Amino acid sequence: MFDILIKNATAVTMDSKRRIIEDCSIGIEDGMIRAIGNSVPGDAKKMIDASYCYALPGLINCHTHVYQALIEGVGYDMHFHPWNIKYLAPLVANINPEHSRASAELAALEMIKSGTTTFSDHWYLHTDFENIEEVAKVYDMSGLRSHCVFGFLSESFAGEKGEKSEMTMVQREELLLEKARNFAERWNGKNRTTVALGPGSTEDVSREMFKKIISLGKEMGLSVVTHISGWIEIVSRSLGKYGMRDFEYADSLGFGSENNILIHGTWLSPHEIKLVSESGVKVVHNPVANMHLGYGIAPVTEMISQGVTVGLGSDGAASYTYDMFEIGKVASMLQKASKLDAEAVTAEKALEMMTIEGAKVLGLEDKTGSLEVGKRADIILVNYRVPHIMSGGRPVPKIVYGAGGSDVVTSIIDGRLVMENREVLFLDEERVIDNADKMREDLFLKAGDDVDRLLHKGWPEGGASWRS
Ligand SMILES: [Zn+2]
Repeated sequence: MFDILIKNATAVTMDSKRRIIEDCSIGIEDGMIRAIGNSVPGDAKKMIDASYCYALPGLINCHTHVYQALIEGVGYDMHFHPWNIKYLAPLVANINPEHSRASAELAALEMIKSGTTTFSDHWYLHTDFENIEEVAKVYDMSGLRSHCVFGFLSESFAGEKGEKSEMTMVQREELLLEKARNFAERWNGKNRTTVALGPGSTEDVSREMFKKIISLGKEMGLSVVTHISGWIEIVSRSLGKYGMRDFEYADSLGFGSENNILIHGTWLSPHEIKLVSESGVKVVHNPVANMHLGYGIAPVTEMISQGVTVGLGSDGAASYTYDMFEIGKVASMLQKASKLDAEAVTAEKALEMMTIEGAKVLGLEDKTGSLEVGKRADIILVNYRVPHIMSGGRPVPKIVYGAGGSDVVTSIIDGRLVMENREVLFLDEERVIDNADKMREDLFLKAGDDVDRLLHKGWPEGGASWRS
């Protein structure tokens, strides 16, 4: 007797043979996939008819900052630096556990409703150390599989001190290390939560602190995750200061390890790609955020051809979405256009990055990322009986290029239904949206004049220079 038996699906398994199984049944028991194939005998407490649905492994968002779910629409069409200094910092300097909780609920709702089952949140807003505790509780309660990155800002925020340098989220090194250790002891391995350690970037902590974070990671068996070579300015500053590019510098401090994760890598040199490949460091590519912020086009094709494991992320508010179908499509299209090569990143490669490769990036490939016996049951059902998808044709290009998050009808995580027929089961959608509205309003009120002026500004005349 299974707990759940899915019937009649077209399963795109992403297993090692990349099997696509028509008329597929999937039997789930004790949170695990126990059987998958054309004929799965047995009964179940819950039967799900997946006719006209693709069954896919749940999508994996390898990098985001969920707090930014609350502040979309403030500061846009600008580079990270002015956005950060002028709008982001004043907003988040006031963030408290209540706002944090509201942002996590909102992001969790959007992720579940668009087919994400596993995600990594890089949380560095320690204006109050209860903030990260609250968001971890929300993820646990929502049913999602979470990779919680305890962020570190001990010198600055994204390398620039700017006018608002007394931001309270920049904390003392020893206090951060102690709080990170406590957080990891409480949460790492609890239910579906994994903890990692995340210096904001090589510029947000001192050289000594970066090394201490790496040793803490080794001691506790936690990955270290940081933004590297995302924007070109950090590379030129790194060259000026250390005579090394950003990844070369991080590598010189001991970052190069297969447990560690590099976010962006937009400006990695060919030599650095070789170092990344040799060290086994994993990479998260955030194509939509990179495009919005004008960061550039990451050398994804080169990294993949050198055997680097690359997953995908939405990153924060700059992408205006948590929909990993959109991120996967853009990841493919961007490489095709920039390489003048329609085969640069194929639909199949994009789907790998959205699922199994993402699981490898987060070190969770023994649990999730594919539909096969023995893995935890993280499964989404995508309805294809809609005009923009339809039956026939090969499933993978239709999934990657044609489907969107709103086509996901049902989501199962760790063998538990978290969304059925688009109804999210552990979050009250109306309450989450009402509360997020209230908390957003509150943050805007507290943020001060610059944010208020931006929100009430008319249509920009003559370009976006007024925003910088
Ligand atoms: Zn980021």
